[in-house]
Amino acid sequence: MGTPSDKKLINENGLRLDGRGDEELRPIKISTDILERADGSAFMEWGGNKILVAVYGPREAYPKHTQDIEKSVVKARYNMAAFSVDERKRPGPDRRSTEISKVISEALSAAVMVEQFPRTQIDVFIEVIQADAGTRIASLTAASVALASAGIPMRDMVVGCSAGKVEDRIVLDLSKDEDNFGQADLPMAVLSKNKQVVLIQMDGDLSKEEFARATDMIMKATDRIAEIQRKALSEKYKIENLSESQNGGE
Ligand code: ADP
Repeated sequence: MGTPSDKKLINENGLRLDGRGDEELRPIKISTDILERADGSAFMEWGGNKILVAVYGPREAYPKHTQDIEKSVVKARYNMAAFSVDERKRPGPDRRSTEISKVISEALSAAVMVEQFPRTQIDVFIEVIQADAGTRIASLTAASVALASAGIPMRDMVVGCSAGKVEDRIVLDLSKDEDNFGQADLPMAVLSKNKQVVLIQMDGDLSKEEFARATDMIMKATDRIAEIQRKALSEKYKIENLSESQNGGE
């Protein structure tokens, strides 16, 4: 969250800088099976964000002391490419990427049936190729699709969205300028069916009422985003079934 400034974020027609209304999402596209060597993969475009996720596992956890005898350990690694932002980002891990990797790992662990795979790890490599605000929840939403496309048993999908405060209005899915110059940013993710919250963070200040409105907007949006996740996965299975029936017909 940058310091609030004089930058106008809402125009004279009451619309946001990119023409969206308060509860409008940026365009979201997800595709699966992008990478041949990964067990599962997904590519997500969410507004200006472009994110690639590769999933490997479950496989024996290494080093051995990281093994959990009761469950699989989900190890997400979030990385922002040096060229993903306006000014070159210093390559390699930093405090922000370590924090995001941790919260994403925890959120995904709540969705995966980790108890079915003791002593293993599931690696989730997240590469942000282009960043435009909201990358942690976009990464998490894409990672969930990549895990499902790897055929890893899951209780549910994780789906996220952010809301925030801009010129004293509560708006959904902050853009980069809104994130930088707005008053608050609230990224949140839930399990799509029972709506259990698996990630919630907040930058800036919201009153109790504003917080309730923001979370309500996010909850409604997660239904729409979950539908995009389902479509991406059903495309995959449609294509697989098609090629199976073609092979069968040879
Ligand atoms: P999120 O991407 O989940 O919203 P932040 O609120 O930390 O996470 O970051 C907001 C946005 O700021 C990012 O999506 C990215 O566009 C930009 N950003 C983050 N880190 C850097 C950086 N080191 N250099 C330039 N821009 C950055």
